[in-house]
Amino acid sequence: MADISALPAATGAARLTVLAGPTAVGKGTVSADVRARYPQVWLSVSATTRAPRPGEVDGVHYLFVSPDQFDRMVAAGEMLEWAVVHGRNRYGTPRGPVEEHLAAGVPTLLEIDLQGARQVRESARASGLDALFVFLAPPSFEELERRLVGRGTEDAEERERRLATARVELAAEAEFDVTIVNDDVRRATDELVRHLGLDPDGGAGR
Ligand code: 5GP
Repeated sequence: MADISALPAATGAARLTVLAGPTAVGKGTVSADVRARYPQVWLSVSATTRAPRPGEVDGVHYLFVSPDQFDRMVAAGEMLEWAVVHGRNRYGTPRGPVEEHLAAGVPTLLEIDLQGARQVRESARASGLDALFVFLAPPSFEELERRLVGRGTEDAEERERRLATARVELAAEAEFDVTIVNDDVRRATDELVRHLGLDPDGGAGR
């Protein structure tokens, strides 16, 4: 498992905030809204072995790497955390840029899956790092089901598999410090940046 013992503890350095939540809850949409309206927050750029989707820019949305490159980063201890997501591709948070931004006092946000959030929590516990764990929740399970069904072309079997995963993921809420209900993206984003220590009214684009 990755280790973040080298990260600065709570000594005036900025706080690390980790945003996680079930599949299809809208983590990506909320973090895109943070990126658009709050440029003073640094959103960590994950490395992934999956292929870019149309419109995704290497180095902005993800660092798109080969499986070999990903292996090398893990072996070199460069990942704060990493996981296989949806049983397919690997995703990980490069450690160096997170350390640098926190040390420079820049509020830093990781948008990662539950497995990754658990790894960061264990490391933060061990090192005394000041980190806040935020669970993004759907307004209800029925709403999550609607979003999962509505967004895709998955067949019934795949849909059932994802719903089963979502049920398990929802049960992880109790592990988190704070829950934000994603009933409205702008509202959820503003609540999140408040936890990052920012004044929502000071955000860009208002
Ligand atoms: P997508 O492929 O749709 O961009 O992302 C799929 C999933 O990967 C999302 O649930 C997202 O939270 C998760 N993810 C993205 N980056 C990371 C990362 O660096 N680490 C972990 N553990 N999960 C990530």
